[in-house]
Amino acid sequence: MSTYTNEQVAHLVEGTLDWETTFRMLSMPKDHGRFEQYLAALQAKVDFPDRIILPLGPHLYIVQQVQTKKWVTQCDCGHVFGDYRENWKLNALVYVRRTEEAMTEVYPKLMAPDTEWQVYREYYCPQCGAMHDVEAPTPWYPVIHDFEPDIEAFYKEWMHLPVPERAD
Ligand SMILES: [Zn+2]
Repeated sequence: MSTYTNEQVAHLVEGTLDWETTFRMLSMPKDHGRFEQYLAALQAKVDFPDRIILPLGPHLYIVQQVQTKKWVTQCDCGHVFGDYRENWKLNALVYVRRTEEAMTEVYPKLMAPDTEWQVYREYYCPQCGAMHDVEAPTPWYPVIHDFEPDIEAFYKEWMHLPVPERAD
């Protein structure tokens, strides 16, 4: 019996679940087949020939490049942000909201955070303009590298799948 409904899997594919939930869902012992289904569904939505290895967000993936077999972080539109081990945010367009006016564009006045203590950094694809992430760090905090997924372990130990080939 499956642990998750078709509706939840649909949310997964639409990218409306966060990575943690995704990981938990895909890591359920009975749902190993789902990961391959999920990747196939994502692959069907993109135009590039490169193989999706791991989704990082609704429009952002770690892919195996079809020609070189290198693993890179790549947008829906095919824009490459660099090696998958590097922080893709350093190669993104960044918009920082730090004034009260800029804040209240997205947050009601009373709910707007104090800009002395918090800024919002939005990360966009330089090619297609898709927003890939938002951070709300204190202003002096360095750009956050969310996580470096152990993809080999994820494939081997969690999913019991062969690890995709990687050229370094
Ligand atoms: Zn893009």
